[in-house]
Amino acid sequence: MSKHNVKKLLYSSSATVYGTPQKLPLTETHPTGIGCTNPYGKSKYFVEEILKDLVTSDKSWSVISLRYFNPVGAHESGLIGEDPQGVPNNLMPYIAQVAVGRRPDLKVYGNDYDTPDGTGVRDYIHIQDLAVGHLDAAKKLLSPSFSGFKAYNLGTGSGLSVLQLVKAFEEASGRKIPYEIVGRREGDIAYCYSDASLAKQELGWEAKKGLKEMCE
Ligand code: UDP
Repeated sequence: MSKHNVKKLLYSSSATVYGTPQKLPLTETHPTGIGCTNPYGKSKYFVEEILKDLVTSDKSWSVISLRYFNPVGAHESGLIGEDPQGVPNNLMPYIAQVAVGRRPDLKVYGNDYDTPDGTGVRDYIHIQDLAVGHLDAAKKLLSPSFSGFKAYNLGTGSGLSVLQLVKAFEEASGRKIPYEIVGRREGDIAYCYSDASLAKQELGWEAKKGLKEMCE
């Protein structure tokens, strides 16, 4: 990048940099790195720190870090989407594999969290909204007035439980999603959802697609 004089970077970060939330909804000022529960989150946190140091040491660099919440869904053409090989780690692709009969049932990791139905609550965001967020962030990054390091949450600002997602997927697909409640997954937290107002104020971006479109 240096050789080709590329000094602007849009970084794909993650809400996992916030670790276990001290306060909800998560704003960009929430501490990062403390209690990052998994290696993935740690790697995102480390890279953000490196990028912050980079822009401090060399003012000709500027960086925007986009902290994704839970991206789900596929492009409406059906041509671009997610079909992981092996056992999916994430909820939405797992549900999709149950819906097409590739797996017998979903294992719900715990229904004893302090949430309305006891299952984990996350801020799911349609990948097309996420894509538009990158374009809006790129415009900001390329504007002559932008400098330094800035992080933005990309989420909808509201949380949905595992069972709410299962129900919405059943409605969208017309298929029954059998599930079994099993024990909690290590490192999981009860709630994670964004305050997405900074991206709205400064990038003019907000998520437009709802749960039904994510499932469809
Ligand atoms: N989850 C589940 N069964 C699965 C995968 C995930 O019950 O097979 C739950 C998980 O405990 C969490 C939510 O679904 O409450 C979202 O998990 P995912 O791995 O998709 O995202 P993350 O945990 O990284 O937010």
